[in-house]
Amino acid sequence: MVAAQPILSLENVNAWYGASQALFDVSLDLDRGETVCILGRNGAGKSTTLRSVVGLIRRRTGRIVMNGRDLLGMPIHHIARTGIGYVPEERGIFTSLSVDENLYLPPTVSPKALSLNTIYDMFPNLAERRGAMGGQLSGGEQQMLAIARVLRTGAELLLLDEPTEGLAPVIIQRIGELLQQLRSMGHTILLVEQNYRFAHRVADRFYVLENGRIVNHLTRDGLSDGADSLSRFVEV
Ligand code: ATP
Repeated sequence: MVAAQPILSLENVNAWYGASQALFDVSLDLDRGETVCILGRNGAGKSTTLRSVVGLIRRRTGRIVMNGRDLLGMPIHHIARTGIGYVPEERGIFTSLSVDENLYLPPTVSPKALSLNTIYDMFPNLAERRGAMGGQLSGGEQQMLAIARVLRTGAELLLLDEPTEGLAPVIIQRIGELLQQLRSMGHTILLVEQNYRFAHRVADRFYVLENGRIVNHLTRDGLSDGADSLSRFVEV
């Protein structure tokens, strides 16, 4: 049997901010339908890895292949059209536009784009707030809106940068359920997290970054003592 091609693969990726190198030979891959988490302490290079994939960092070498297409050298607006939906740490909501308007804005990149009705069925709290301005939403609602917005585009691979950061436990629980729902709908998720308990609950595999290098690769089944064994890789 021929193994299925990964949806995304990074091979020996190096990345720089100006003259300062932030990633060193980072290699990782995601199979279709998986949820994979990058763990690591502050400054390890987690966000830089996501930014390198979507082309926000232009000075990078190696290979980044999405659905068989090499992303290096591809203009940033073409990268979005390969089916990648990126939710940055700061979420990028338009604060002076309504929830509805935030959801209408993104261009559709594939026929898998979810309709507004489907989005509001999945996110009942956003439906209740559809007329509210982005800036009036709570942190949790903004995170939901940021995820909903990339689902509107039809992205099949979601890159989520610390979706639980600064949120209350009950909202983190809801985001966990949402990621499990997206997984069951067939989405592939690359997640950056420092919350190892959350990561352990939602991810199938974990890459550990340290000083811009992958230093460990773990599967959930391989973690004999559960979520707590992930804690040594992140700041507590
Ligand atoms: P955090 O959770 O703190 O964001 P991280 O693992 O996501 O941590 P990155 O933001 O990817 O870390 O940072 C990796 C390295 O690149 C760090 O040394 C950081 O200081 C540096 N860096 C990040 N952004 C910039 C930038 N805009 N200009 C210069 N250096 C940067």
